[in-house]
Amino acid sequence: MNKPGYFGQWGGAYIPEVLYETFRELREVYAKAKADPAFWQEYVALMSSYSCRPTPLTHADNLSRHFGGAQIFIKREDLNHTGAHKANNVMGQGLLVKRMGKTRVIAETGAGQHGVACATMAAKFGFACTIYMGEEDVHRQRPNVFWMEKLGATVVPVTTGSRTLKDAINEAFRDWVSNMDTTHYVMGTVCGPHPFPEMVAWFQSIIGIEARKQIIASHGKLPARIYACVGGGSNAMGIFQGFLADSEVELIGVEAGGKGIDTGQHAARLASQDASPGVAQGYKTMFLQDSDGQMLDTHSVAAGLDYIGVSPLLTDLWEKGRVRFTAATDQEVMAALDLTIKKEGIIPALESSHAFVQAFKEAGELSSDQAIIINQSGRGDKDIFTIAHAFDDPSWKEFIRKKGEEYATR
Ligand SMILES: *Cc1c(COP(=O)(O)O)cnc(C)c1O
Repeated sequence: MNKPGYFGQWGGAYIPEVLYETFRELREVYAKAKADPAFWQEYVALMSSYSCRPTPLTHADNLSRHFGGAQIFIKREDLNHTGAHKANNVMGQGLLVKRMGKTRVIAETGAGQHGVACATMAAKFGFACTIYMGEEDVHRQRPNVFWMEKLGATVVPVTTGSRTLKDAINEAFRDWVSNMDTTHYVMGTVCGPHPFPEMVAWFQSIIGIEARKQIIASHGKLPARIYACVGGGSNAMGIFQGFLADSEVELIGVEAGGKGIDTGQHAARLASQDASPGVAQGYKTMFLQDSDGQMLDTHSVAAGLDYIGVSPLLTDLWEKGRVRFTAATDQEVMAALDLTIKKEGIIPALESSHAFVQAFKEAGELSSDQAIIINQSGRGDKDIFTIAHAFDDPSWKEFIRKKGEEYATR
């Protein structure tokens, strides 16, 4: 039996003593909620009325024919409110905040997607909300900052250190220490100190629970393989949990290969040889770090996958051989995104497109009576600035240039 909060040798809760009491409170409310079937019912009802659950499982018949192998199915987390699976986690944590009687939530965000999801939840529940964001990211992610502020959140630009995500995490923890009585810290993925990895995985398990029923209903049996992109690992753990006990279903996590895993410019923790065990940000996992424990600079076309750590749950499943890890390069991602739009009229997020790359590479190896599922973690049309830039679209550039001029002369 593992120590609580550990998955094999990974995980744990490396937190300062001042946070012991608030973590004890969180573990307790989470344990109670988990033991109470009424809580899960309330959660499912909320997600059905507010976030389009259950999300459909779409048969991608054109893509299936194109590759001439397995039947390709797409789990449509893009149809969640705010456009990604992140809604599952933030709304679940919102219900716990209500149970704890707290009135304020804080979070850190890099690309801003978790910040927008969190600010949306806070608006819905009537909580005050502060989002910490590196100053660099505030400038790079203006559209998301705009929506966070419109949703009523205070966005605090963090000017310390490298002015990016890891500095924002430090500031958010500082805030939490001073405001524990009123404030809950909303972790964005299946990482961080216990109970966050396990708790966020629990909320995301709704994806796998639905997908298992849906694939059996439409295909008559379990799928051969399931593909999900892996940043922190929450959408992957979400769908994988529905099939962990089915040893015949192969689970594949796809990380950001960036410019190639031999270039050093990537965010592949488990699919490359570049990561090593370490403790940071309150938990133990495989981190992209140098031999002195300094975190490396990572790169991906998809901001949501650009992260130095990875879920302790996934590191454990990787070590046990239950989940296979691969990486997709930026270039492969753009090709898979383009093909999916043209063949199915579906626009995956850049993050999700990583899972499509690997599924496309392998679909032809399987026969037409086998099925595979791709977890489409989010939609791409909301990221038009990033995607149009990544496609290097000349008329988009012209449009941005003209808009700039228009604003300048107003
Ligand atoms: C945030 C995000 C991810 C990465 O997070 P995980 O915790 O690894 O799921 C993937 N896809 C989308 C669309 C995201 O917004």
